Amino acid sequence: MPSAQNPSRSFRQSVGRRLFYTHLLVGLALALAVSVYFYFAAEQALDSVYDDRLAEATRALGLSIEQSQLLQPQASTAVLEQLTTATSRDRLLSHAVIYDSGYGTLSVWAHSGEGTAPAAVQLPSIRDVDVRERVFELDGEPTRTLMPLSSDRLLLVSADQSELQDYLAQLRRHAAVAFIFAVLISALMSGVLARDARRVLKRFARRCQQIAEGRFKSDEASPPLAEFAEFADSLETMAARLERTDRERTAALEQAKSASGQLEANVRERTAELDRLNVLLRKEIEQRCQLEAVLAEAAATDPLTRLLNRRGMLELLEQLADRTHRQRRHFCVAIVDIDHFKLVNDRYGHAMGDRILAAVAERLRTDLKSEEEAARWGGEEFLLVWPELPLAEAEKRAQVLRLALGNGPLVEAGPKITLSFGLAEYSGLDPLDACLVRADRALYRAKEAGRNRVMVS
Ligand code: GH3
Ligand code: MG
Ligand code: MG
Repeated sequence: MPSAQNPSRSFRQSVGRRLFYTHLLVGLALALAVSVYFYFAAEQALDSVYDDRLAEATRALGLSIEQSQLLQPQASTAVLEQLTTATSRDRLLSHAVIYDSGYGTLSVWAHSGEGTAPAAVQLPSIRDVDVRERVFELDGEPTRTLMPLSSDRLLLVSADQSELQDYLAQLRRHAAVAFIFAVLISALMSGVLARDARRVLKRFARRCQQIAEGRFKSDEASPPLAEFAEFADSLETMAARLERTDRERTAALEQAKSASGQLEANVRERTAELDRLNVLLRKEIEQRCQLEAVLAEAAATDPLTRLLNRRGMLELLEQLADRTHRQRRHFCVAIVDIDHFKLVNDRYGHAMGDRILAAVAERLRTDLKSEEEAARWGGEEFLLVWPELPLAEAEKRAQVLRLALGNGPLVEAGPKITLSFGLAEYSGLDPLDACLVRADRALYRAKEAGRNRVMVS
């Protein structure tokens, strides 16, 4: 149903139709009122003229009859002829009758023509109408007039209404034709008016659609009607204002878009820069960490033997001592000293001494098990730490090592060396320093006892 889908269209249609029917109705009402008014006015005028003519004819007839003849008991031929001539000459008159009112009764005295005279019973008494030369309408009938001729003679004239009816019928026909013509004119004008209104409304609807679609410039001239022209001007002013607003809005949008694009580019650039910096920073941190690890390792490592140095070993021992206190565990330390190393240096040179130190360190390292550690404790001294190893087992390990290292030259073309071991156990009863002193004393005793041996504190 298009009207349900498009209410504005049905509104436009109803406006056209309403205009048409309203104007048609008004035209009809006006035409009807005018026709009726003129018809009745004409009818009244005709009646009046007709009455006047009848009265005049009656008077003329009455006055033409001589009074002397009226005194006769019977109407003379002359009177009858007069009556007949009057009715035949004037088409308006149908009957002319003179009544005798003598002896208290009414009777026909003279009659104009053939046929029966009109009934006289309705006639008033002659005494009531005894006024000469006056014509009376009878009982209000427009078709009959009465004129008293003498004291006992009354002239009654009847009119023929056919002519009047013909006139009236003609009048009605003309009125009907005029009415139909007025209706046609009214319908035509209503149609034209409704069509114009529809056209103007359609034009405005089209224009509004154009404005809604953003076509602000109009190529149509203003509507011819003044009020619509004013409305059209207002519409165009509104369109111009909308166009300006639209232009400003588009410009603002463009500006905002370019600003947003610029902002996004800036953000992208800054983000890329930050990413680059982050990568650099991460690299630097990694390098620093590596460097710190290297430095820490270097600080805790002996460069010749690649074992922990004294400082590194002391840190480890403190951690182990701390763990011993907390977990009731223990560890053994062994201080290992190369016997008569000064002589080796002296005989084979310092370089050979270094190579032998490195070889001893390598052998000690290969003997290490999980959690065990070795360090260069001093010039030609090493310290071994063996966590969780009972002192007796530690002594056996030391003997095995001593025999293995003293079995033959560790370095090609180098001397055979021997080692002395001083062992001590740390179980947390005395300080770490005391344990180390005990191991050192055990080593001293090994030296004192002739070297190449293991001594336990
Ligand atoms: P002992 O059996 O009593 O231990 O006698 P020793 O000669 O080994 O002991 P001493 O303390 O008299 O001498 C230690 C020697 O170790 C002195 C020194 O030249 C040598 N030495 C210390 N550090 C190094 C080193 O890094 N390289 C070399 N080649 N020799 C070293
Ligand atoms: Mg020595
Ligand atoms: Mg020594």
